[in-house]
Amino acid sequence: DSRLTSGARSDEDAAEVKLRPQVLDDFIGQRQVRENLKVFIAAARARGEPLDHTLFHGPPGLGKTTLSQIVAKEMGAGFRATSGPVIAKAGDLASLLTNLERGDVLFIDEIHRLNPAIEEILYPAMEDFQLDIMIGEGPAARSVRIDLPPFTLVGATTRSGLMTTPLRERFGIPLRLEFYAPDELETIVRRAARVLNVAMTDDGAAEVARRSRGTPRVANRLLRRVRDFAAVAGTAVIDAKAADQALRRLDVDHLGLDLMDRKYLTCIGESYNGGPVGVETLSAALSEQRDVIEDVIEPYLMQLGLLMRTPRGRVLAEGGWRHLGLKMPRTARA
Ligand code: ADP
Repeated sequence: DSRLTSGARSDEDAAEVKLRPQVLDDFIGQRQVRENLKVFIAAARARGEPLDHTLFHGPPGLGKTTLSQIVAKEMGAGFRATSGPVIAKAGDLASLLTNLERGDVLFIDEIHRLNPAIEEILYPAMEDFQLDIMIGEGPAARSVRIDLPPFTLVGATTRSGLMTTPLRERFGIPLRLEFYAPDELETIVRRAARVLNVAMTDDGAAEVARRSRGTPRVANRLLRRVRDFAAVAGTAVIDAKAADQALRRLDVDHLGLDLMDRKYLTCIGESYNGGPVGVETLSAALSEQRDVIEDVIEPYLMQLGLLMRTPRGRVLAEGGWRHLGLKMPRTARA
């Protein structure tokens, strides 16, 4: 998924590393998550224990990885990162776990994509800091128990609904990230512009923020592209007008929707009379992966009130019809 307005990480985002806030106090937005984390971190530190296992969930690009690194830093702990699909064999996880030092943060991104057999190894590791592994094969096989140093597992997932209940329940601290408010994103854009040495007015930053789908990763990406347009056009300071012109050229509309979002809405509106239509059907009609539709495209459209998910399928909301400039058919009215 390489769209400009996708929250999912792409190679081009390597540049965002230097935009990552390093401590909790520099992390903008997600106030409740931040305040809760602060309390839990202070309490764990006072007890001299690692932080309880923590699960971040929410759409891509909202700061799950960033917060995980901050947690490690604030705990004065080491940080090791991996991801669900990367852990292919039980041995991969065993070697990660046995190499941990006391208090380390083990970050598992996309934890809902862990193989179920591997997940089971995690249960005793999380609960009792013990690892049960089988050594050898056939009749000679025996189970060995290894004590692990106390550690903190930090999981990140775009879809906690796809996690198994036993895994989800082993996280003492579940935290949900929400889309950012426009003023928070504006602060993030202004900070990124400073770091990247981009001259920008406040209303220029506000324009980029407003069109970033409530997502810092998208904001950072749009800022870089707007900067390119400004450089080529010889614009010295990016104001709202320069930002708007660049974003139009990039096909990002005033709500931050791109061509794919509009194709998605148009498909429901025109081909399926506003729905309900199943996600599999949409995935086939648009040649887009179901994951991308559910993780990236739909959450923001729902947040904007353009789309509803119902048990019978996706339905265009009144705002969706309006955004497409189409009249809502009488039959689509509830
Ligand atoms: P996720 O793991 O949820 O996909 P990341 O933590 O990788 O998201 O965040 C993507 C990028 O967005 C980060 O590299 C960082 O530059 C930026 N970012 C995320 N959250 C914030 C924030 N609260 N303040 C400033 N920048 C942020």
